[in-house]
Amino acid sequence: MHHFAYRNGIMHCEDVSLETIARDLGTPTYVYSDATLRRHYNVLAEAFHGLDCLIAYAVKANSNLGVIATLASMGAGADVVSGGEMLKAIKAGVPANRIVFSGVAKTEEEMALGLQHGIFQFNVESMPELQRLSRVATSLGLRAPVAFRVNPHVEAGGHAHISTGSAEHKFGIAWHEADIFFDEASKLPGIDPVGVAVHIGSQIMRVEPLKEAWEKVVALVHRLRARGFSISRVDFGGGLGVPYKDGDNPDSPSAYAQQARDVIGQLDVKLVVEPGRLIAGNAGVLISKVEYVKERDGRTFVILDAGMNDLIRPALYGAWHEVLPVKTPALGAPRRAVDLVGPICESTDRFAKDRPMPPLKEGDLVAFMTAGAYGATLSSQYNSRPLVAEALVRGDACEVVRRRPTFDEMTALERAPDWISSG
Ligand SMILES: *Cc1c(COP(=O)(O)O)cnc(C)c1O
Repeated sequence: MHHFAYRNGIMHCEDVSLETIARDLGTPTYVYSDATLRRHYNVLAEAFHGLDCLIAYAVKANSNLGVIATLASMGAGADVVSGGEMLKAIKAGVPANRIVFSGVAKTEEEMALGLQHGIFQFNVESMPELQRLSRVATSLGLRAPVAFRVNPHVEAGGHAHISTGSAEHKFGIAWHEADIFFDEASKLPGIDPVGVAVHIGSQIMRVEPLKEAWEKVVALVHRLRARGFSISRVDFGGGLGVPYKDGDNPDSPSAYAQQARDVIGQLDVKLVVEPGRLIAGNAGVLISKVEYVKERDGRTFVILDAGMNDLIRPALYGAWHEVLPVKTPALGAPRRAVDLVGPICESTDRFAKDRPMPPLKEGDLVAFMTAGAYGATLSSQYNSRPLVAEALVRGDACEVVRRRPTFDEMTALERAPDWISSG
């Protein structure tokens, strides 16, 4: 369910035509739908209604301040994985006491930042991290609320590169070693051990493997409580998938929430969930323009002005994005298998191979669908291409929420060394 649809033959985001946006802002440009973001947040909030639950939006999915601010205004918390994300969340209006700090490599500076702001929780993933966090907290005269992210040894990710819950992955502490961590934490002066967390991967289509992981968390809470630890929080992570192509049919947020209720039962804990893709995924598209159509060796290359630096998911994960013409093709126009490629000097700069597409010619616009999550956040300036613009649409209003940098801005942090001119 999203708010991108054809009207009078032109794809719109809510009430705004993508042609208009391309004309006004240029291409490539990411376009996000306010109504879609809100809908996804509301569906989850309603599904968890009545439960003591913090919905901590996983900022790395889409960290545009406009997107975070939209969700913050609805009451969302934030799951962050760096000091930069933490500061963006705070700047966008997320109260610090709704921020969860995840990630395997928190620096001392990041820990101090989180402690000084009074964030909700640090999800700790190793013994040296725990000891460092206690040291930093003690030096500030503070205590860090900590959940241990356990690695439940459950496989569930949609793709090998986005699974995180098995023994070979760097994430989490071994779930059977949690006792050792709680024993150690209870001796450390700067630590308040309050919870158990889990996150086993992304683009997970079925809630069943999540259940296995969550049940391990609940069993652990029972065991730790029996040993005298007062565990007041569980964090079930993120990971529920979204449809990218026809036939993708992920389990619903309500099935996800129902399963969470069932697994928690009478545990009497505060629940944290960390959805990213589920909220932002199909709330965004990337508009791109056809630069050239090149016929060679029996292949047709449709060369776009968007590249893997703007949307890296196909190159990085072999991900599939639907690519639709912004203008509805003429009725009965034949489809032809083409390769959709970008301008980057890399062979992996290919969005689709042998993709049946309606006729496309120079200057035509296309939209990469479901590009709202892990799109703009994973973009770079490779090939010295400026970051693309991002726009947020609400009804008939369209606001630029990140403008394209100028050439001077793109190069402002760089300089030639003094010895070039002085020599
Ligand atoms: C990436 C991440 C998420 C969000 O995953 P989605 O698949 O986007 O829902 C949640 N929690 C942690 C710890 C993450 O690293």
